Amino acid sequence: MRYSDPIARLIEKLSSLPGIGPKTAQRLSFYILNMPGDEVQELSSALVEAKERITRCRICGNLTDVDPCSICSDEQRDHSVICVLESPRDMIAMEKTKEFHGTYHVLHGVISPMDGIGPADINIKELLERLKDDQVTEVILATNPNVEGEATAMYIARLVKPLGIRVTRIAKGVPVGGDLEYADEVTLSKAVEGRRDL
Ligand SMILES: [Zn+2]
Repeated sequence: MRYSDPIARLIEKLSSLPGIGPKTAQRLSFYILNMPGDEVQELSSALVEAKERITRCRICGNLTDVDPCSICSDEQRDHSVICVLESPRDMIAMEKTKEFHGTYHVLHGVISPMDGIGPADINIKELLERLKDDQVTEVILATNPNVEGEATAMYIARLVKPLGIRVTRIAKGVPVGGDLEYADEVTLSKAVEGRRDL
């Protein structure tokens, strides 16, 4: 007994998402099939609309529906400090601390030779472009405290320090090997507070 084609296709598409195995994909598929038609319509248009309207901010790489994003265009923020992060999720975590008032730069990944990801594959060149503007006085490297995160921080530090810009690394308040996005707000703001010069 196999599923009819449209069901099989739905299961296949859902199971291609991260963290969703075949069993969960099946469960979600049947749940969706039981939903009222208009709710399914709303779900699918939410997917399409998010994909169509969200782009990367041309300055910081953050995901946004206005370009430049609301943080880059905010005059109240301190544009002399840039906090470098791996993902937009880390940025949300950092914003929740309400302690950081500078701007961000989202790398969209880390250097990971094992996975074939080199410096050119993440948003580093764009960061260096931003630093040409002599407004920036400090770059805080807030990549995750694991092997790839450390290596990426060191790589960027080597490029930025010769420009005469202060380069700092967040303190190890975030558990080693832990993810920034799961760190609680107090831990994260302590990590920024206790940053050290590289
Ligand atoms: Zn931006």
